Amino acid sequence: MNRVAIVTGSARGIGAAVAGRLVGDGIDVAVLDRDVAAAQSTAAGLVRAGGRARAIGVDVSDADSVGAAVDEVVDRFGPPSILVNNAGITRDNMVFSLSPADWDLVINVNLRGTFLMTHAVAEHMAKLGWGRVVNLSSIAAVGNAGQANYSAAKAGIEGLTKTLALELGPLNVTVNAVAPGYVATEMTAALAAQAGRTVEEHQAQAAATIPLRRVGRPQDVADVVAFLASDHASFVSGQIIHVAGGPVC
Ligand code: NAD
Repeated sequence: MNRVAIVTGSARGIGAAVAGRLVGDGIDVAVLDRDVAAAQSTAAGLVRAGGRARAIGVDVSDADSVGAAVDEVVDRFGPPSILVNNAGITRDNMVFSLSPADWDLVINVNLRGTFLMTHAVAEHMAKLGWGRVVNLSSIAAVGNAGQANYSAAKAGIEGLTKTLALELGPLNVTVNAVAPGYVATEMTAALAAQAGRTVEEHQAQAAATIPLRRVGRPQDVADVVAFLASDHASFVSGQIIHVAGGPVC
């Protein structure tokens, strides 16, 4: 039986690279995203390349939407044994200007979404007796001025990752997080625009602070996620792996 993976927020960016990498490993991939049209286009590209993929709409912050999407995955593909909690958003501001609405939005998509998806999928992994959960954190989890909401959500994801590794380990389910540094995607392009810089200027400024002197590519993150989702990582759980071109303090 083929393994079935759910990758949230995989219509584009890091999630799309993860979906592509998992499909390449022979895994059936459910491309879950709030942007259904973009998810359909991404899934169609994976199918054209010879993979098995299907787009399913979801708002990861909404319990009913999550339940319906996971049911659809089970109907179409069978029970999922790999979950990549990748959907995430930013709404940056210094604390004086950070609205409660933007606090809630970022916490709800990043942190609550990771909980809701894992809550809905873990029972399938438990029945299968094999599972992999990989959560997307960020180097911002250690603190980043202007990102109190995002930083808190990602730090929360790291605590959730370690706790779920303790709870799900006896069921042969590993739970890890990947914490990228600056990765060139539409998310960071939007941050460049917010900072009044071109994408090239923004990336060059970031690269100058990174020991490897370049920004990350979605594939850099996808390769680590695919390892953590594979049999090769069967004794790795509760870890936060930085993919940031250097150490993170
Ligand atoms: P992106 O903005 O390019 O893509 C995010 C995807 O998530 C989009 O397709 C979007 O439609 C989807 N999404 C947003 N809200 C959703 C919701 N409520 N339900 C379902 N889908 C939703 O972002 P990215 O740069 O590819 O980032 C992917 C993940 O990696 C995020 O969790 C982000 O926080 C994390 N990350 C990114 C970077 C970076 O530099 N790009 C660095 C560290 C961590």
